Amino acid sequence: MQIRLRYGAFKEPTAVRASTDLLVSSEAGNKRLGAGIWKFSASQVRPATQRFHVFPKTFPPMQEQELRAYLQSWKARGYSPEVLTFGRTFRTAAGKVMDNRLFWVSLARFKSQAEADGLVKKLKTEQVFAWVRAETTAPGAATITVTDGSGQNAYRGTTPMELRSEVPLELADVKTGFMKDRRADRTVAPPLRLRVGPDGSIEVMGELPLETYLKGVLPAEMPASWPMEALKAQAVAARSEILAGLAGKFELEGFDYTTLENCRAYAGLAGHAPTTNRAVEETAGVALVHDGKVATTVFCACCGGWTEDNEKVWSGPPNPVLRGVPDFPPGKNPAKTGLQAYGMQKWLTTSPPAWCSGHKDFRWKKKLTKKQLSEIMSKSYNIGVVQALRSGARGTSGRLLSMEVVGSRGIAKVDRELAIRQVIGGLPSAMIIISSETAKNELASLTLHGGGSGHGVGLCQQGAKAMAEDDLAHSEILKHYFTGVELERFGL
Ligand SMILES: [Zn+2]
Repeated sequence: MQIRLRYGAFKEPTAVRASTDLLVSSEAGNKRLGAGIWKFSASQVRPATQRFHVFPKTFPPMQEQELRAYLQSWKARGYSPEVLTFGRTFRTAAGKVMDNRLFWVSLARFKSQAEADGLVKKLKTEQVFAWVRAETTAPGAATITVTDGSGQNAYRGTTPMELRSEVPLELADVKTGFMKDRRADRTVAPPLRLRVGPDGSIEVMGELPLETYLKGVLPAEMPASWPMEALKAQAVAARSEILAGLAGKFELEGFDYTTLENCRAYAGLAGHAPTTNRAVEETAGVALVHDGKVATTVFCACCGGWTEDNEKVWSGPPNPVLRGVPDFPPGKNPAKTGLQAYGMQKWLTTSPPAWCSGHKDFRWKKKLTKKQLSEIMSKSYNIGVVQALRSGARGTSGRLLSMEVVGSRGIAKVDRELAIRQVIGGLPSAMIIISSETAKNELASLTLHGGGSGHGVGLCQQGAKAMAEDDLAHSEILKHYFTGVELERFGL
């Protein structure tokens, strides 16, 4: 199975380093360029054409009858709904079929994002929540000029342009970060295809066999020096997540994943390591399944002793695989009847013997003065001087799901785990208790006692490492963090 990747999207001229002959081809003809650094510049750019779908609902394959009734109800209202199939079916080596398809109902298609947004707004007044997704309907075009190190023209052609070489090519200064502008040189597998994207940037596209792609993903997700069973657990989890997410977000743009870290961190061909390669090879084709589907898996750095239910952290329905579980060796959990009964104060001011308790972020403490807190809050809210933080609802793992910030000029309500972490100046996690210190009957400072690092859903990497060091197998690690899963080998 091949994974279609977008390695980069460039608005500026981009450099490709070839350690042996580079073959360039387009409608203008083929040319053999030697080894060296070649610069690709675009001119006469015409962006790709898009149309914009409005999707109000998706249906799993089991609900075909409901889907038909749903389409009928929109037709009766004068709409022309179409059904797009996202996701794939997979066959296990033993012949079982796993159906990861999802039927998306496209209610209408528009030429502009603004028109699509208009329908979303209208539907909202009718209590129908819909979202917009762009589809590339015609490729863009550009003239690409290739120059050598001294700026001499070596080749000129139009997109699509193909780059071939006997050995991997290096893309210089590729964007890798999503929220932050991180960049790196990236070694990628030829052939590469240059095309023009909807925003007029030159997109560098390529393909890799699934297992080769995984060998570049694994060392970016977990240190290659970690124990083998932890690496194998991460490899199986990553393979499951890649398969379950196929034909998702970027299907309408003609590829599977970007190599930006919001899709999935990717270290490139040069990032492969012997240990992570072995972990991929020894689990070749193995993925997690649940209820007739390849399971969607996620992971976090350190869960703080208890993982969280997916729907408490992100929007979307509960995933039976992603349930919050205590992260303890058998018989070691001090809070057997749950964290509420045990008390968050005791939980976060002591160090219970969780699998991940050896990590520096397992328990942490942060103190903020009223002035510091007011300054941080003023970036997001106009509520004046902060007077108190009030904790709201908590998830299974004690993570705070809502919070009120009381200021001299008003109250701000902050919902969702990530928003809470961001609003208090980038906390490692939302598993926190807040205590306040007062002076002259006024708030002076706040002390936060926290647990863990990351969203807390799915596999806890620090816990997986400790379990592997305790001689537990990768299958045991995976079944501990992902509720109700089985490991299946696929003929991919
Ligand atoms: Zn943990």
